[in-house]
Amino acid sequence: MKRFVSTVLALLTMSAPALNAQSAADSAAIRGAALDYIEGWYTNNAERVERAVHPQLAKRVVMRGPDGAPEPLSNMTASELIDGARDDDDDTDDEESGERHHADVAILDIYENIASVGQAQELTVHFVGNAGVVLTDGDTSLLVDLPYESGAFGYMRYDPALLRPVGTAISVITHDHRDHFDPDLFLPQSSWLIIGPPSVTTRVPPERVLLGDSVRIGAFDIVAIPTPHTPDHQSYRIRWRGRVFYFTGDTEDATAVPSSPYLDVLFVTPWLHCSLRSARRSASWDRAVLYHRRTDGSDTICGSADLLEQGAQFTMPAH
Ligand SMILES: [Zn+2]
Repeated sequence: MKRFVSTVLALLTMSAPALNAQSAADSAAIRGAALDYIEGWYTNNAERVERAVHPQLAKRVVMRGPDGAPEPLSNMTASELIDGARDDDDDTDDEESGERHHADVAILDIYENIASVGQAQELTVHFVGNAGVVLTDGDTSLLVDLPYESGAFGYMRYDPALLRPVGTAISVITHDHRDHFDPDLFLPQSSWLIIGPPSVTTRVPPERVLLGDSVRIGAFDIVAIPTPHTPDHQSYRIRWRGRVFYFTGDTEDATAVPSSPYLDVLFVTPWLHCSLRSARRSASWDRAVLYHRRTDGSDTICGSADLLEQGAQFTMPAH
């Protein structure tokens, strides 16, 4: 597989016709230029790459050495980039397998005659254990009900040392029980921030607490919804680029799950899932994942349910 000259393609800037407002034709032209650049590179089509870049391109490239440390910035001109696209010495895998690089681009921003374009992002959802789930887009990572005390009250064990969130890391905690939050594991991770009810956040230095019922961080919107369980338990509705997730926490109250907006993924305990069924709540979600399950399989499971395996992850594209 041909390695792209830069690990991150993001922020390709190009000249678009002067425009005051973005029209459909402008968007198509911007996407076309970005696709010429990406697909031209992966298919060794130097003409497409040449069409996409300014003749006086000055591309700064950051490579990483074998130890992962960044090497000094290097410069690449338009002709070096175009020659690189033509050179297919290291591209035999693609041709043998007939694999085509699938490019999906997103226009991130348009300001006057400059457009910023990136490869469309995906969200990765990783079920760590018990009620602990990591959502990450590579820039921001939310650690829902993490870190918790491994094996607390007989729930799933995991290795907290393996939690290595990328980008800005925020713990999003439903309530102050050890199977949802362990301050002794959180406090040493000095760069991690936290969102949670007062019984949780008062145990953390104030400069690490994000206050408010509604917090926007990176591409995430996080809304805390007070729900019954402990005195200040809260469930969360989390939006990311048009996707909506809902984490019930430990609440037993079927009315805690909203009928709107429509949810892409509902993370729900086995007992609340049963309550939702007996309340004959019609599904307002695409996928319900049962979390906070007992390790001996003794939970009552009502009807069909999505039992995501511990450690499993899935991705979702932006909507
Ligand atoms: Zn619990």
